[in-house]
Amino acid sequence: MDLKEKVRIIEDFPFAGISFKDITPLLSDPDVYVETINQLEKVVQNLDEKPDIIVAPESRGFFFGIPLSFKMGIGFAPARKPGKLPCEVVSQEYTLEYGTNSIEMHKDAISPGTKVLIVDDLIATGGTLLATAQLVEKMGGDIVGMIAVIELTDIGGLEKLKKYNPTALISYP
Ligand code: AMP
Repeated sequence: MDLKEKVRIIEDFPFAGISFKDITPLLSDPDVYVETINQLEKVVQNLDEKPDIIVAPESRGFFFGIPLSFKMGIGFAPARKPGKLPCEVVSQEYTLEYGTNSIEMHKDAISPGTKVLIVDDLIATGGTLLATAQLVEKMGGDIVGMIAVIELTDIGGLEKLKKYNPTALISYP
C-alpha cells in the first residue's frame, strides 16, 4: 500500500507558504492505519537494538507511538506540553521560528540505560524531536531509534537529527 497517496496536502495552512501534510486520512481508514503501524514496526525490526519503551511528543506523535507500543508489547511515555504532567518533570526548551517552547516528561518515566525509540508524525525543522531526544538523554535514556511517518527533506530537520539516524516512511522535498 502506498501510504503517500493517503496523505492529504493543504497548501498555505496554517500560514502562507506552508504545505501542510494532513495525516488524519491515515487514521480514519482502519486498513491504512494498521498498515502504517505495520510499516513503522518493520523499520524498528531493522534497528540494532530492541527498544524497551516508546517516547512520542504531544500530540500527533501519540497517534503513532501508542499503537506501535501496543503492537510491539512495550511501554509508552508521553513528552507533553508544559504544565500537563502532575508529578516531578524534566523539561527541555527549544527554539521556534519566533520564540521558544518546551516539552516535559515525568522524571521517573525513563531510567538510566532504558532503550528508547522516539516516534513522531512528521519531521520538519526537527526542533521537536531534537528536544525530545535531549530530554530522554537528560534522564540517561539510550536512544536506539527515531522514526516518523513523514520527513520533509529540504528544511534541515534530518541534518539536525542525524546523530539519531532518523527514518521515515514517506518523504517530501
Ligand atoms: P518540527 O519541530 O518543525 O520538526 O515539527 C513539529 C511538528 O509540527 C511535527 O511533528 C508536525 O506535527 C508539525 N508540522 C510541522 N510542519 C508540518 C507540515 N508541513 N505539515 C504537517 N505538520 C507539520
